[in-house]
Amino acid sequence: MLSSLTHRFSLLPSQFYSYVTPQPLELTRWVIWNAQLADTFDLPQSAPQGELKCLFTGEVLPDGTLPLAMKYAGHQFGAYNPDLGDGRGVLLGELSNREGEWFDLHLKGAGLTPYSRMGDGRAVLRSTIREYLCSEAMAALGVPTTRALGMLVSDTPVYREKCEQGALLLRTARTHIRFGHFEHFFYTNQIDQLKLLADKVIEWYLPDCKGQQNPYAAMFHHIVTRTAEMIAWWQAYGFAHGVMNTDNMSILGETFDYGPFGFLDDYEPGYICNHSDYQGRYAFDQQPRIALWNLSALAHSLSPLIERADLEQQLAQFEQHLSDCFSQRMRAKLGLLSKQAQDSQLFAEMFELLETHSIDYTRFFRELSCVDRHGIAALLDLFIDRQAAQPWLNSYLLRCELERDEQGNPLTAEQRCHKMRTVNPKYILRNYLAQIAIDKAEQGDFSEVERLARLLAQPYDEQPEMTAYANLPPQWGKKMEISCSS
Ligand code: AMP
Ligand code: MG
Repeated sequence: MLSSLTHRFSLLPSQFYSYVTPQPLELTRWVIWNAQLADTFDLPQSAPQGELKCLFTGEVLPDGTLPLAMKYAGHQFGAYNPDLGDGRGVLLGELSNREGEWFDLHLKGAGLTPYSRMGDGRAVLRSTIREYLCSEAMAALGVPTTRALGMLVSDTPVYREKCEQGALLLRTARTHIRFGHFEHFFYTNQIDQLKLLADKVIEWYLPDCKGQQNPYAAMFHHIVTRTAEMIAWWQAYGFAHGVMNTDNMSILGETFDYGPFGFLDDYEPGYICNHSDYQGRYAFDQQPRIALWNLSALAHSLSPLIERADLEQQLAQFEQHLSDCFSQRMRAKLGLLSKQAQDSQLFAEMFELLETHSIDYTRFFRELSCVDRHGIAALLDLFIDRQAAQPWLNSYLLRCELERDEQGNPLTAEQRCHKMRTVNPKYILRNYLAQIAIDKAEQGDFSEVERLARLLAQPYDEQPEMTAYANLPPQWGKKMEISCSS
């Protein structure tokens, strides 16, 4: 059994972090334990009690386990903030899965650290449930993301707009190194540490870069590429992150730090999920542009290590790579794998149709994936003006006739739809569903959190007994803006 935890990050000099002792919460108990993820690490199938629970909550730490809070900085809403760092989370250590891959284990809500600034070091149950459910839902969709191993609630009061319960999230990630880590060393002119950080990133996570002519440029190339791939997933699946500050950008392109995120209900490109985002900086359709802005901020911080021309060359590839990845995802969603001349027009007309008629983004693609079973009626029913969709649908179905299987035979509707159902989810974490689970959990009933976690672990499966969860949101649950307070 796992008896202690260590992290390679603690081999770095003290400028990189501070050791912290987690401040225990009162009477912690498990809300949910992720048995499936636990299994990949050979951890118990049921929520640990005793020593292992104390290790995971930071209450009793065995010798050799030295949790640390990482120091970083970052651009928040476009402005540089030098004073960031893990203000309420600690890196407990690293876990290895059966394939020998290493993952950080991070405890969020563990108390004050030297980087807590005005904060209390805590996380509330509400935001912890949101991060748990969404990161797991994203993982099940296939989107690169941090994950959640478990979540605990406590009797410790935490004051936000009202008094709430303190909670803990056990998060796993391939790394917790953010763009902001590099920015910190650049802006404090610690170029030796900047270089050391890049060396360690390459050694730990991107060993293939070592053999390249310019390993640092190769590292940046990976960061650009992975970020583009992550954003392509977000845009194709209708995910708005809400706080794309550079301290919330993982260098390995995993969706990171779930706060006021939201999935699109109706297709509305300018959707703003973050209640505090007055300018719409992080609106859904701004995400590609902001990702590039964030990469440019990172590039600036890497300028002591990489020639300007190399940085610019890598940045210049971002848009094309994102566009290629996005097209690939959208093609799969539409079941159009071959490339045909009329496709870009078909795509453009589809987005226009969805926007003009305020059509639910997820339901549209799912119904399109079910025309073999339901006919086109269920799809047309999504439109108040049923006739409006008919011309586009006619062109689309005509276009589908050009698809071929591996033997060159025309693809049947069943074959096409079967494939489409593996990439167009029936179930997503709509904000109102999360809210219902939160309201119950705040009354001490965690059954809805469990049910949603189970449902969203198989987002592409029909799960006929759960169909109500695929319904359009009620009016009160549409376009919910979520507060940043967490
Ligand atoms: P976030 O908006 O959650 O990405 O947080 C931005 C920064 O504020 C990070 O450095 C966090 O560690 C810190 N922070 C957020 N909430 C708290 C809190 N309740 N107590 C201390 N620090 C916090
Ligand atoms: Mg953050």
